[in-house]
Amino acid sequence: MQLSTKHLLGIKDLLPSDISLILSTAQQFKEVLQRPIKKVPSLRDVTIVNLFYENSTRTRISFELAEKRLSADTINFAASASSVSKGETLLDTVNNILSMKVDMVVMRHSASGAPHFLSKHLPDTAIVNAGDGINEHPTQALLDAFSITEKLGTLEGKKILLIGDIMHSRVALSNIYLLTKMGAEVMLSGPPTLMPKYMEAALGVKIEYNLKKALAWCDVANVLRIQLERQNQVLFSSLREYNRAYGVTSKLLSEIDKDIVIMHPGPINRGVEIDSDVADSKNSVILKQVENGVAVRMAVLYLLSGKKELSS
Ligand code: ASP
Repeated sequence: MQLSTKHLLGIKDLLPSDISLILSTAQQFKEVLQRPIKKVPSLRDVTIVNLFYENSTRTRISFELAEKRLSADTINFAASASSVSKGETLLDTVNNILSMKVDMVVMRHSASGAPHFLSKHLPDTAIVNAGDGINEHPTQALLDAFSITEKLGTLEGKKILLIGDIMHSRVALSNIYLLTKMGAEVMLSGPPTLMPKYMEAALGVKIEYNLKKALAWCDVANVLRIQLERQNQVLFSSLREYNRAYGVTSKLLSEIDKDIVIMHPGPINRGVEIDSDVADSKNSVILKQVENGVAVRMAVLYLLSGKKELSS
């Protein structure tokens, strides 16, 4: 089986069969990661450059680890320590790197559409979007889907709630595309000023501004960080007020007689969007999401490489 696409730019471009293939391949790599020797030769002789123009902790480490577990050769590039600070254009930087014979590019950028731009100019190099501005973060949505399936058996018919700064969250948009394609029901909750008005009609999701009602509806609550670095105007009164209205607290959860799976893509702002006891509770799969991220990224890189031998 093969993906219908040469790049992973966003979930928007994937078919449900692509998503199923990535998730089932990730399951095989998860088994590899449980072995005493966690490394397979699948991407031997493949060179991957990790181009990170924006800060990242989990995603960068997770991609690097996935590449190493697949025996790829990797190069890491951080924009602040490069000629980008001397005024070089994105295309010039990437063309220079590719002339050194690189096969794949994993890219994070603060500009929405940056990886799409690269893929148009470099059609022969597989481009993986590791987060572009407020647009998409496809591997995050895939690892979220993997984690939900692991916990609940399927995505189909499950009720997934995304809470918080929907407007500036690339995790929210990628999750909405993926979950609706795979037959889950999606609800959004958060302050009206952080809720794009078009989403309900255009993307087939529900919106519920009352967090308690939204929590009572869902099987899974995916709590999102407020993307303060992407906001250039005041969209809510204070972090304290935000916590009162939209923070996921144990008090609120105790008022709802239901076990809800708690997720968060990280980084967590404890005491703002989620309280510590909820983030660390038995219903939280936050660290499982991080663990699953490596297997999911291995699957994406392996499938895009076009190699035929999964492991040995
Ligand atoms: N780590 C995720 C991202 O890069 C979520 C976040 O930063 O809040 O989009």
